[in-house]
Amino acid sequence: MISALMPNFSRLDVAFAHGQGSWLFDAQGRRYLDFAAGIATNSLGHNHPHLVKTISEQAAKVIHVSNLYRVPQAEQLAARFVEACFADSVFFCNSGAEANEGLIKAMRKAQSDAGHPERTRVICFEGAFHGRTLATISATGNPKYLEGFGKPVEGFDHVPFNNLNALRAAITAETAGILVEPLQGEGGIRAADPDFLRGLRAACDEFGLILGFDEVQTGMGRTGKLFAHQWGDVEPDIMSLAKGIGGGFPMAAVLAREHVAKALKPGSHGTTFGGSPLACAVGNAVLDVILADGFLDQMNETASYLRAGLEKLIARHGDVFTELRGQGLLIGLKCAVPNGEAQAQALRQGLLSVAAGENVLRLLPPLVVTRADCDEGLAMLEQTAAALAPQVAK
Ligand code: PLP
Repeated sequence: MISALMPNFSRLDVAFAHGQGSWLFDAQGRRYLDFAAGIATNSLGHNHPHLVKTISEQAAKVIHVSNLYRVPQAEQLAARFVEACFADSVFFCNSGAEANEGLIKAMRKAQSDAGHPERTRVICFEGAFHGRTLATISATGNPKYLEGFGKPVEGFDHVPFNNLNALRAAITAETAGILVEPLQGEGGIRAADPDFLRGLRAACDEFGLILGFDEVQTGMGRTGKLFAHQWGDVEPDIMSLAKGIGGGFPMAAVLAREHVAKALKPGSHGTTFGGSPLACAVGNAVLDVILADGFLDQMNETASYLRAGLEKLIARHGDVFTELRGQGLLIGLKCAVPNGEAQAQALRQGLLSVAAGENVLRLLPPLVVTRADCDEGLAMLEQTAAALAPQVAK
């Protein structure tokens, strides 16, 4: 008989009762080091005092009013994002897929408003992940996610990642824009080459296309800058955010430059829950922490420390882990064993991690992770590698 919860996830057999910092505890009190962070979402770890206080205080005032009215918390948060990056205007919504839907709609509508209604197609990349709605699985393009759901939504063209010639060859008179993750997360922690991003920007400028960055996973400090693209010199015209933006509270955003954002007029796009007083109070609280003086510097130091430890782990256990990928605390360990087995073995050692494409094991500690946490994590990975090694020898 089917379970009461729909069986669309293969869940590990563990449940958590509470959390503190980088740690989660099950009902028996066993503790787990949370290097999954709700898939790069619990940016401030668990039970963060500023987040908890903000949620309780705001919940006692007002949770939701709808977008029929002004929402001061949303106005404040939008202004802070505008201050912090390329964007001139922000739309708040509830999940990464919804943010990408908004981004794709904004691209098409901006082209239409600019006199190019024929420009409806978006170029996306192999290995991408943009979400689970009909349009975003079509943008993702991976047959694994499309199978059984009928014809993909029209309007997405796929080219190899980091291949500018292929990209330029795919541009037609119907192209509206380009959607890319500066560092592919689900695809296996694959970084876009800086020259590739520059080439995308140049192509967009040359052909009047809109450049969209999906920073759902890479944004909000995860790579060590507020947004991953800020490591380089290329800015998009529009960007999606989710995951870490709410520190675990469901929330997302579309940030855009004026010429794109102005296409979304009243009636053209909307959401009931997006940008509520509670969600935006949470978003402001997360930004308070991430943008506090020295926070990202400290995080980058801890990330370098962890990464140095992982390099040593790979040097000792090249039969299990072969390559370190990613930036900041968006970390990938390429595995020589099936990554699902590495994930299960790490769980046995008390370490939570996430599988990704290309047989990569993702480590996504909360941004507040400490060196002491990292030491424990490295010891657990050492045990994991030792437990998996004999299997390799067979
Ligand atoms: N875009 C990227 C880069 C993601 O990593 C994800 C989720 O993993 C999504 C979009 C979809 O986000 P959500 O699951 O919140 O809809």
